[in-house]
Amino acid sequence: MKFKKYGVIIVGTGISGIYAALNLSDKLSVLMLSKRELTLCNSALAQGGVAAVMDKDNDNPELHIKDTLVAGQYKNNLDNVKILVEQGPNDVKRLADVYGVDFDRNADGSLALTLEGGHSRRRIAHHKDTTGYEIETNLIEQVQKLKNVSVINNSVLCRLERENGVFFADVIVNDEKGGISHEYYCSENVILATGGIGRVYAYTTNSAIATGDGIRLAYDLGAKIENLSYVQFHPTAFADRKNQECFLISEAVRGEGAYLLNCRKERFMPNYEPERKELAPRDVVSACIMEEEKKTGSNDFWLDISHKDPEFVKNRFPMIYKNVLEKGYDMTKEPIPIYPCQHYLMGGINVDGKGATNIEGLYAAGECSHTGVHGKNRLASNSLLEALVFSRLIAEDINSHSEKINVSEMEYNMPDPAQFTETLPEGIVAEVREIMQNAYFVFPNYPEAEKGLARIKQLREMLERGNYKLTPEFVETKSLVTVAYIILTEVLERKDEK
Ligand SMILES: Cc1cc2nc3c(=O)[nH]c(=O)nc-3n(C[C@H](O)[C@H](O)[C@H](O)COP(=O)(O)OP(=O)(O)OC[C@H]3O[C@@H](n4cnc5c(N)ncnc54)[C@H](O)[C@@H]3O)c2cc1C
Repeated sequence: MKFKKYGVIIVGTGISGIYAALNLSDKLSVLMLSKRELTLCNSALAQGGVAAVMDKDNDNPELHIKDTLVAGQYKNNLDNVKILVEQGPNDVKRLADVYGVDFDRNADGSLALTLEGGHSRRRIAHHKDTTGYEIETNLIEQVQKLKNVSVINNSVLCRLERENGVFFADVIVNDEKGGISHEYYCSENVILATGGIGRVYAYTTNSAIATGDGIRLAYDLGAKIENLSYVQFHPTAFADRKNQECFLISEAVRGEGAYLLNCRKERFMPNYEPERKELAPRDVVSACIMEEEKKTGSNDFWLDISHKDPEFVKNRFPMIYKNVLEKGYDMTKEPIPIYPCQHYLMGGINVDGKGATNIEGLYAAGECSHTGVHGKNRLASNSLLEALVFSRLIAEDINSHSEKINVSEMEYNMPDPAQFTETLPEGIVAEVREIMQNAYFVFPNYPEAEKGLARIKQLREMLERGNYKLTPEFVETKSLVTVAYIILTEVLERKDEK
């Protein structure tokens, strides 16, 4: 089999993948893969913004570091937190100055910074309530101008193998008529920027691509996976309980003064958190909601910002306002129903301060990586910052050791896809999601986790032994089963940990 060679292969076109590409030397040939259309990713869904010390008169790096550590329950990697906080402001500045990202501004032209849970200062730069889409689309426009970068949509990395320091990639390419073909690429440098794992849950804020493919491929190659049980459940997803993808109500709504109410429409956070109230970190607020549910016996919860000026609410949160209005609620006049939901993964493919894994040439960036900056619970809006800072550091590391690589072909043997003939049985993914939702939602349920893990092991063995056709569906199913396996194993191993 012939594999076309690139200087770098980047798997993923979310903010971490694209910002890496923009920072790579133009002497390197770069291939970027995107499982679906370019903007279908968690990056494009980000609402609240990106946290950084941009207002040096009222904020400083020490405070941002402290807030990050408090939210993360001091389980963070302090060296990497310092890198994040100290280098981040420059990357945020570059988004505006170099890449044309239109952050909201005050009348004097300075950045309009908002507040979110766990932050002791206003430090979140934002574009209304669609910050991720604004950054993602601007960066995509820039990357598409680069002559050294080729981007292929609808291309699913299916197999990744390594021999003599070279990674060999089998990529399934979907055509417009629904057919699939395989393309083969290789490189000495691979950046996994494949995003989160939300789709392993029955309810998540994550986009359809969040199936943990990069984590599974890295795990199978022998990369170290760390803290995969550090899953974040956001306290305020819109609660219509009709769709798997739950619409997020940004933390910035609480940052601008919204209250959380129980089934009796009474404010309850001050009873649990007299100081921080609704602005406690996410894990604390979600845990308080579960506690309040036990007390009242009802899972009806509300978010209320109707006491604020309606024009301010509509102007500050136009997308959220429009979306909940379509669902039948006018947030300027009445509370909206909310409930916690899977949102983010703090753990992932373990990397050092340059984004490098334990396998030479393999890097991981963004939500699939574990830099340790978030500890056990991510501080709001630190994720986009992490994606920016560490993907740039990866690019700088690759630039520092890679000479110009001439594009050529290499021969390598991989089993022919035609050898795989069995059809995947139906229902595996739905079963995995139900197991995860019962075994670990906000808090682990240990008996359910034990029962669930036993079944996940059976499914894993079945997928390993079977001779299933290499389809995108197979890739995602294998990833979700593997991710569930690692999470539940870790949950049970840490049963007695505080
Ligand atoms: C609703 C929502 C709101 C959020 N709000 C904020 C916020 O305000 N601030 C903040 O800091 N964070 C926020 N986050 C988190 C943040 O958006 C994400 O953590 C971050 O954008 C992840 O970026 P990424 O580049 O790692 O992954 P993504 O943006 O998810 O991109 C992953 C990419 O990998 C590709 N991919 C995956 N598997 C394969 C495969 N097998 N082959 C080829 N390609 C593949 C996908 O196609 C996609 O291009 C939010 C998240 C959500 C879901």
